[in-house]
Amino acid sequence: METEKTNHASPPAPSADAHRQRMARRKEIQDQRIAATTADKGLIIVHTGPGKGKTTAALGMVLRSLGHGYRVALVQFIKGAWEPAEKRAFAHWGEQLAFHAMGEGFSWITQDRERDIAAAQKAWETALRYIVNSDCRLILLDEINVALRHGYLTVQQVLDGLAEKPALTHVILTGRGAPPELIARADLVTEMTAVKHPFKDQRIRAQPGIEY
Ligand code: ATP
Ligand code: MG
Repeated sequence: METEKTNHASPPAPSADAHRQRMARRKEIQDQRIAATTADKGLIIVHTGPGKGKTTAALGMVLRSLGHGYRVALVQFIKGAWEPAEKRAFAHWGEQLAFHAMGEGFSWITQDRERDIAAAQKAWETALRYIVNSDCRLILLDEINVALRHGYLTVQQVLDGLAEKPALTHVILTGRGAPPELIARADLVTEMTAVKHPFKDQRIRAQPGIEY
């Protein structure tokens, strides 16, 4: 009993001197880290995994970029994935933001593989025009990973396109099941984990402001 108590006791509070010393050391390390950072770099960003938040996190970066006055392009690879509320909000940004919903005919309802491939390829062509244009600072390729997973686009095609992007351009690729080759190439990869979801766990339908 006695031993257990000792094991769980919090450590004694450090003296003011020890605390000062520790903080000074931490600041020194932090300063070294900051000094060691390199110049800016356009990032390849991947949001994947089964949890919610892949598209919304990407839209957060779109909002930040717009706030900095950067030009942004959004290409939506799957129809209806997130309209219409964002579309309305984005209309206020005029020329600064290009929005393309390219999923026409690319859905689970058509069951027409040839048509889906053609739609995905067309979306990719549009995306590529923005990727190579240095006026555009951020490009969001929403749900492109799903198109890759279905083989509507090849990973090589996408990697070749990303290789052409200007040095400061950021590209975000969202969707479940990002291919390992893309993850290997990316600079920033976040995998969303589904801990709880109101639809899956409580059959609560998609709600405005939260899902669309
Ligand atoms: P969001 O657009 O909300 O950020 P997402 O991009 O991470 O979600 P998608 O795979 O694009 O997720 O799925 C889009 C829709 O599916 C959203 O309405 C979302 O709430 C819902 N969804 C996401 N994850 C789950 C889950 N684990 N179970 C059930 N529905 C989910
Ligand atoms: Mg999404």
